[in-house]
Amino acid sequence: MPGVSTNFYGGNTTCLEIISAKGEVAIIDAGSGLNNLGKDLLAEGTTKSIRFFFTHAHWDHLLGFPFFRPAYRKDYTLTFCSGPHAQSVIRSYLSHQMQAPYFPVELEALSARMIFDCDNPHHEDRFCACGDLQVKAFPVDHPNGGFGYRVMEDGRMFAFAPDNEIGYGHPDGPERSEFVNLFKDADLLIHDAQYTDDDYKTTRGWGHSTFSATVDLAMEAGVRRLGLFHHDPDRSDADLDKQVAFCRDRISAARSGLDCFAVREGMELEL
Ligand SMILES: [Zn+2]
Ligand SMILES: [Zn+2]
Repeated sequence: MPGVSTNFYGGNTTCLEIISAKGEVAIIDAGSGLNNLGKDLLAEGTTKSIRFFFTHAHWDHLLGFPFFRPAYRKDYTLTFCSGPHAQSVIRSYLSHQMQAPYFPVELEALSARMIFDCDNPHHEDRFCACGDLQVKAFPVDHPNGGFGYRVMEDGRMFAFAPDNEIGYGHPDGPERSEFVNLFKDADLLIHDAQYTDDDYKTTRGWGHSTFSATVDLAMEAGVRRLGLFHHDPDRSDADLDKQVAFCRDRISAARSGLDCFAVREGMELEL
């Protein structure tokens, strides 16, 4: 949660901006971080065409959308992508959270041009293009389902799985070995690491991974850089620093060269 104890890592919920080499903008998820990103995009003014991808409909991944200022501007075009059947599903998620009595402005009243016609396939040899970025969805192991994304450009690969409980087996959740293949040799993986092994004694089945499970998976897949993500709302900056140290010890003990850090709000990573 935002506040003095999370000033360093930040307390907003999931929202990630990806900028291609040519400057095309894709946004994955519309958590509360989207509010600040919208203000930055307006201030920069460099692109007025934005492609959204969604991982799933849990609140922490949607609630920033009503506060995304470019959506209130006629000169912006927003295209929405997700897993299969995006055009009907994404529109209903966004419109539902803005209906009375939850919000005073309805989705239909927003001024931006909104396109809901992209069904992002998650078949291995197909992808959704955002300029030069190739974006591939894959199912994750999470309650009520959901997707992660792999983004490729020019031989580099970034994989993002913000909510994924490795090895649990939720309905339609892939096996751990499938994630090892999906993340194989990724230049960057940003992955759910919400719980300590101790937390997990009571949180098993809630949809999120432990630090140890995430680090072990990344090492096995030969990932180069691992960003720990989906920080527990009760974890302070100091707590998180301790967990990063725990992960780095585990990596050294395994004699791996994996570079591991906790993702912080506003962080910029170049591939
Ligand atoms: Zn979730
Ligand atoms: Zn989440």
